[in-house]
Amino acid sequence: MSVDQQAGWTPRALARGAVATVDLDALRHNLRVVGERVGTDVMAVVKADAYGHGLVECARAAQEAGATWLGVALPTEAVRLREAGVTGRVLTWLEVPGSPFDDCVARDIDVTVSAPWALDSVLAAARRLGVTARVQLKLDSGLSRNGSTMADWPALVAAARAAEVDGALAVTGIWTHFACADEPDHPSVRRQLDQFDEALGLADVAGLRPEVRHAANSAAALAIPAARYDLVRIGIAMYGLSPGPEVGTGTELGLRPVMSLRARLASVKRVPSGSGVSYGHLYSTAHETTLGVVPVGYADGIPRNASNLGPLLAAGTERTVAGRVCMDQVVVDLGDDDAVVGDEVVIFGSEGPSADVWASVCGTIGYEIVTRIGPRVPREHLGVSEQ
Ligand SMILES: *Cc1c(COP(=O)(O)O)cnc(C)c1O
Repeated sequence: MSVDQQAGWTPRALARGAVATVDLDALRHNLRVVGERVGTDVMAVVKADAYGHGLVECARAAQEAGATWLGVALPTEAVRLREAGVTGRVLTWLEVPGSPFDDCVARDIDVTVSAPWALDSVLAAARRLGVTARVQLKLDSGLSRNGSTMADWPALVAAARAAEVDGALAVTGIWTHFACADEPDHPSVRRQLDQFDEALGLADVAGLRPEVRHAANSAAALAIPAARYDLVRIGIAMYGLSPGPEVGTGTELGLRPVMSLRARLASVKRVPSGSGVSYGHLYSTAHETTLGVVPVGYADGIPRNASNLGPLLAAGTERTVAGRVCMDQVVVDLGDDDAVVGDEVVIFGSEGPSADVWASVCGTIGYEIVTRIGPRVPREHLGVSEQ
């Protein structure tokens, strides 16, 4: 199969022999599909380098598709967006005591506060800078991860309101996160919604008037209408993958995969029947056959437990990883295919098997498959708009 620049085979991709293309038209399409479905404002979640797709490129494309907010876990990720010149609303939610609170406040980043220490850190930054900080309060409505417990909520709300009256901060949002949004009928969903409504009521009585109340990730946004409030936080669906089997496959949801991982065969050779393949000889050839070497391995994010399981598309035929996944390479049994060195193999993406299929054979989720594709694989962004 030929390789061409159109498909992302840039000189650096050719030099590496592997490429993860990121189709920003697909990303924009997915965000519009979700936006039309939910009818609220959309926050595009671009944490973890946009789930491995490239932070800044995806943030800009999401804004072009109408996302009014960007969401990241770490304050350092939010600062990186600003350093790249990305404007607009940005929310961060996972601080530690050493986080760059001053940078966040100075750069108009909305900082999530789950506990008094974080409120104090934001207030100290606002005081040093002589500005009003933007804060969102997070409730732990039942995930038992970050967020204020219901017991601590009245005190947190009162402290935030007092600081707001002082002009030190503005509470721009109140939010929570589900434990089981991908199982829409799970009883915890209703309980979390009830807790969140109660917390919103208490905040209102205390005088807080947030711009946005939000609870839904992709699964909740698509499957739990009551969870939509003013804003939905969309990650995985924007990248074209399923939030979970109960919500639907990517195709059923009208989504297009954004990342495609491809590589070029580094070796092709005929071997006799009974040849043991790769470490441990977990695979042995059943006939005389052609073996190809694909130059990506677990160092590049191919799960080692895809050994003998991971699907690949070679010359239009679906094949399976033969034997162990190695650090830098995997072997594929090409049968009697007419393969030559340099032929393209699709590991996952819009043309080959989906990252969700890789996830299911590896016992994980599509999120992990795309997010873990490592820095040794060049990212090539397709559909970057001219500005
Ligand atoms: C990652 C994350 C999201 C996005 O979740 P998806 O399932 O990818 O849509 C939303 N909210 C929070 C708090 C997150 O950490």
